[in-house]
Amino acid sequence: TARQQAIQTIATTTYQLNRIVFKDKTLKELFGANVFGEAEQKARLPKPIFKALQKTIKLGAQLTDPNLADAVASAMKDWAIEHGATHYTHLFQPLTGLTAEKHDSFLSPNSDGSAMSEFSGKELVKGEPDASSFPSGGLRATFEARGYTGWDPTSPAYIRETPNGATLVIPTVFVSWTGEALDKKTPLLRSMEALSPQALRILKLFGNDEAKKVITTVGPEQEYFLIDKNFYYARPDLINCGRTLFGAKPPKGQELEDQYFGTIPERVIACMADCEMEMFKLGIPVKTRHNEVAPSQYEIAPIFEDSNLATDHNQLTMDVMRRTAETYGLVCLLHEKPFAGINGSGKHNNWSMSTDAGENLLNPGDNPHDNAQFLVFCVAVIRAVAKYPELLRVTVASAGNDHRLGANEAPPAIISIFLGDQLQDVMDQLEASNLKSTKQGGHMEVGVSVLPKLPRDAGDRNRTSPFAFTGNKFEFRAVGSSFSIGGPNVVLNTIVAESLDFIATKLEADVKAGKSLNKAIQDLLPGILKESKKVIFNGNGYSEEWQVEAAKRGLPNMKNSVDSFPSIISKASIELFGKYKVLTEKELHARYEIFSEKYVKEIAIEANMMVHMAKTMIVPAALRYQAEVAASVNATKAAGVDVSTQMEHLKSLANAISKFQTLTGDLKSAADHHAAGDAYGHAKYMKETVVSKMEELRKLGDGLEDMVADDLWPLPTYREMLFIK
Ligand code: ADP
Ligand code: MG
Repeated sequence: TARQQAIQTIATTTYQLNRIVFKDKTLKELFGANVFGEAEQKARLPKPIFKALQKTIKLGAQLTDPNLADAVASAMKDWAIEHGATHYTHLFQPLTGLTAEKHDSFLSPNSDGSAMSEFSGKELVKGEPDASSFPSGGLRATFEARGYTGWDPTSPAYIRETPNGATLVIPTVFVSWTGEALDKKTPLLRSMEALSPQALRILKLFGNDEAKKVITTVGPEQEYFLIDKNFYYARPDLINCGRTLFGAKPPKGQELEDQYFGTIPERVIACMADCEMEMFKLGIPVKTRHNEVAPSQYEIAPIFEDSNLATDHNQLTMDVMRRTAETYGLVCLLHEKPFAGINGSGKHNNWSMSTDAGENLLNPGDNPHDNAQFLVFCVAVIRAVAKYPELLRVTVASAGNDHRLGANEAPPAIISIFLGDQLQDVMDQLEASNLKSTKQGGHMEVGVSVLPKLPRDAGDRNRTSPFAFTGNKFEFRAVGSSFSIGGPNVVLNTIVAESLDFIATKLEADVKAGKSLNKAIQDLLPGILKESKKVIFNGNGYSEEWQVEAAKRGLPNMKNSVDSFPSIISKASIELFGKYKVLTEKELHARYEIFSEKYVKEIAIEANMMVHMAKTMIVPAALRYQAEVAASVNATKAAGVDVSTQMEHLKSLANAISKFQTLTGDLKSAADHHAAGDAYGHAKYMKETVVSKMEELRKLGDGLEDMVADDLWPLPTYREMLFIK
């Protein structure tokens, strides 16, 4: 069987593991070597152009100088060609959640038959990839299908090296000819622009007139699986769906907890080092690597950056990992739930706000003034999450993530906030507006008291909360491992912008009316906390009690994605995103359509793949085994031996096969049925009818795996894929 061949190949192949030697080139030399970053720009651009470009990058100033694009393009091209690039591409992030690109060469033929290389400002700034096949959710019909890419100077261009040449990659937005966002980057940039002025209003109240811009910062921790490529090729479900649709529970799973933070296998370390080398060259500040809880599961985490760059870098990280793994005979699985019964993969979106001078606004300070400012920003976030939990929920909705959220795994589908004992104590006192001593002793009064030292997140402590305060940032843990973090951060930035706006408006009015700022804060925050505290939960998010308690508090608990999609086009959503000019009603509707459609397609592919595997792999193996058993029973009976036990075995096998075949037929007709109505109606149908049939069929298929003779079973098993390294 393909399965036996896979094991044989793995056992006899040796891989070259010492490809990366950091002795030759140090990390410091490598970092950013393939990026057209500030140093390179400074060295190659005329001074005024460099200054104007930096002003745009750092402060978001409009690019007004018409010569700028040409000058930058020319310098970029020279730099790229020196690095061996032959082509350039605009890289964009369509609503599929992946990245897309179309390459053009620098080649420009001369009339005499020779050629020169060319790259103009126009080509840098705007591209017309057409790209009419990407989902647009009705934002453009095919006859007006042109989509444009536009240069995002705030995310630096870079060189992507492959063994077959290099390409200059230019990060871009992707919009329709009427300016509607067809991508993930455009709304993200808009949401950052929405938050900055509101945060600056608060800073101004605190007397900070220097800050020119507030950015949101993100550090995404990325979980993933690495398994041997030979197993992958023997599993059509992994190839086409990214997850196993069948697979019996192995005798050993993650129960021994012998994998978490354990030593990393040689081949995996070599692969990680190679990935990191690539990422360093691309200027991605990767910091941490370790084993995760499930067998063959790992995590990589970078140092945080502004949310636009962090989003681009996370897309690039996933890309580099996928490509590099292959070199080591591995496959990087980024699906949220590649294997049932063991942990799935997520992405922890660590989020904060920072001034252009680098002051982290969610860092509790050492003096009363800083503490008061911290409390205002922190309460703004709490209010935002309490007001818009549905919007956060829907940013992490997908067929894949449904196996995590709302299943028996971290975190639950209920959006709640973890504050920790100390901060909770502070908030309680603030809410009660009483000045009793804190747990640390002393008194708490806004703008007068020093906060108790808030402990930094101690790793595992509160892993069950989807949104946890971890010392100087919030960690949104419900994001799926395969997601673009663009969506979640668009929502975070916008809902917090709304909260800051609300708070700033009240405080400004009070101060104008003659109240002291501290008094105004002390008067305002308790009310906000009273209204918002329903979303705060410091207990065990996995527990049954929390489900009950959350229902009592009236918190939404949308266990599956389909239930959450309508939140995108709710009145609250349309008002919010419209007010802050992040997404128009039309753009929101497009997203609602696209997410519904994507859900339908993903489930349909999985259902059809299950049917195919059932018919062509599992049933044939089971029938062969049945024939063997039947022949053996007949022969034994003929020899005059009592076969009653074997007969029972044969009967139960035959029965299991029949049931499996019947249900396969059921699933096929359910998946083929086209539900009436729009994309959302179809998604609902898939969720209600097809998904449950898939779950049933899987149970029966896994039952057969536990019955059929091992030498006949064609699919690599869990115990092999997860443990043979
Ligand atoms: P832990 O979560 O284990 O306590 P760290 O606090 O070092 O670990 O950070 C985990 C992730 O959070 C890293 O990717 C880190 O860069 C990111 N992070 C730290 N500070 C911030 C911040 N101010 N804004 C956004 N992300 C941050
Ligand atoms: Mg963490």
